[in-house]
Amino acid sequence: MTKRQVRDQLDRPLRDIRISVIDRCNFRCQYCMPAELFGPDFAFLPRSELLTYEEIHRLATLFIKLGVEKIRLTGGEPLLRKDLPVLIKMLSNIDGLRDIALTTNGVYLPKYAKELREAGLKRVNISLDSLNDELFGTINGRNVGVGPVLKGIEAAKEAGLGIKINMVVKKGLNDTEIIPMAAFCKERGLELRYIEFMDVGSTNGWKMDDVVTKKQIYEMLKNEFELETVEPAYYGEVAKRYRYKDTNVDVGFITSVSESFCSTCTRARLSANGQVFTCLFNGNGHDIKEFMRSGVSDEDLENRIKDIWGQRSDRYSDERTEETRKARKKIEMSYIGG
Ligand code: SAM
Ligand code: SF4
Ligand code: SF4
Repeated sequence: MTKRQVRDQLDRPLRDIRISVIDRCNFRCQYCMPAELFGPDFAFLPRSELLTYEEIHRLATLFIKLGVEKIRLTGGEPLLRKDLPVLIKMLSNIDGLRDIALTTNGVYLPKYAKELREAGLKRVNISLDSLNDELFGTINGRNVGVGPVLKGIEAAKEAGLGIKINMVVKKGLNDTEIIPMAAFCKERGLELRYIEFMDVGSTNGWKMDDVVTKKQIYEMLKNEFELETVEPAYYGEVAKRYRYKDTNVDVGFITSVSESFCSTCTRARLSANGQVFTCLFNGNGHDIKEFMRSGVSDEDLENRIKDIWGQRSDRYSDERTEETRKARKKIEMSYIGG
């Protein structure tokens, strides 16, 4: 495939896309879909609003033509979308795609891991915020213990998938789990990534005081383990990584709040109902679904995507202040997928 690399207003290339395949979830994590707000009557997207697999495939092909090399599927909980391996297979056959990954809470991996791997999935990020059943049940809002996620990790391992563990850290909630999670992952050769609690959406009651920064976590880790810096593996790598001395196990940080990385942000996001977002914190999506459903040609669609990226100038985390935070209309994490 001949690629036509597009660049935005700040000269950032388009390299990756996160595709949310569903806005529903079996969990109600406090920091993402608080149960009080996402209750039994919450109006999730009707099926007709979701992009079909054919539509996702068509858009992904065009995104890849414009420079995308890496696709991450997310949600909501992506494994709640029926026949996800079918989509993985369709996507992994697209010429020019280098990498395909999935972010999941892991609960359905025992059922699907093997099928996903056979369909072409390479890697999974599994979210786990605590090893304590009670605390984890409180965080996920559904009283689900750690067991089902650990079984998911096991299943991913058996299926031969690469695994990273995502842990969102919120002060006073699960900061006591920082060291136990590190020890657990190190022992099992799993790369753990600490994610700073972010002010995505407007339902999670975010306060700067609730953020445990990378620096604070790093200081805690240094008291327990010897760590060596790992150089970024590629331009725009989001995680800052370290390696436990004399091992091949890494530990990483997603420092979206304390050390922003907008200048190398090469990521577009496609929501489950077909809106393109050029920043996790930009509430104004571009409705590509309606445009596509109006019967336009691939060339028109490609030009539309090119224009959206070409006009992009987002750098929310670089500019985050109390004022910009309040002024900004933002999109919910469960809708856009992180
Ligand atoms: N349901 C899947 C999962 O939990 O892995 C995929 C979707 S979830 C929105 C994607 C990632 O975003 C998860 O690792 C989750 O922990 C993270 N996340 C959600 N809300 C967040 C917040 N407010 N701050 C930081 N990370 C958050
Ligand atoms: Fe669901 Fe993932 Fe959000 Fe938790 S973080 S509520 S598992 S979408
Ligand atoms: Fe990218 Fe927006 Fe996050 Fe900056 S704030 S790194 S532009 S998604």
